[in-house]
Amino acid sequence: KSLPYFCRGEVIRGFGRGSKELGIPTANFPDSVVEHLPADIGTGIYYGWACVGNGDVYKMVMSIGWNPYYKNTKKSMETHVIHTFKEDFYGETLSVVMVGYIRPERTYDSLEALIAAINSDIEEAKVKLELPDHLKLKEDNFFTSTA
Ligand code: ADP
Ligand code: MG
Repeated sequence: KSLPYFCRGEVIRGFGRGSKELGIPTANFPDSVVEHLPADIGTGIYYGWACVGNGDVYKMVMSIGWNPYYKNTKKSMETHVIHTFKEDFYGETLSVVMVGYIRPERTYDSLEALIAAINSDIEEAKVKLELPDHLKLKEDNFFTSTA
């Protein structure tokens, strides 16, 4: 299997689905990054580590889903970094390592249900990433060798 999976790319603009308004902004990767995903990494919610530019490494949760903009023929990768940034970071390089899988994607009856699910994903990621094998990846050279 392909986890842990390391990748990086420029943060591009998403489709303004209002993630930020929900308090859960998601940084989007361009198609070039998504197209390199190994076939066995399916849609769903993942957790791992992320850093912006040469910044600190933070916990993250990532949603891999079918992109409605391309009539669901292409995937999207959206990363919520579990950190409060002072400013947006469009155009910067986001480096991530996907460490584990949380759950499949699903649709929600209400915004409240969606937000509750994401917040529970965030809590699960925070706990799981404290496992020694997962903490090790935070220190991986991938995050210090700037490309
Ligand atoms: P978009 O549709 O353009 O992806 P979002 O509402 O999802 O808009 O906001 C995503 C943007 O918010 C990111 O591209 C980034 O510049 C900024 N941002 C600020 N804080 C975070 C964070 N903690 N995690 C992810 N993105 C963040
Ligand atoms: Mg987004």
